[in-house]
Amino acid sequence: MKNFNIESLIVYGLCPSCRQMAPLVSILKNIYKCTECEEELEQYVNGVIKYLPMSNKKLKKELIGKNK
Ligand SMILES: [Zn+2]
Repeated sequence: MKNFNIESLIVYGLCPSCRQMAPLVSILKNIYKCTECEEELEQYVNGVIKYLPMSNKKLKKELIGKNK
């Protein structure tokens, strides 16, 4: 069994949904969930790291894409 370090999956970021610095849990590559408001966020790295709200539709698409 692989060692699982939960701390590596949590980052602090400014959540665009509840507008506060909140612990964000990585649920997929580049996709995080705000622990405050449970909004799913997509991480964009373009010089600075940004988190954008993501619709469930898009998340589903992302998950389906990964299964291909
Ligand atoms: Zn939030």
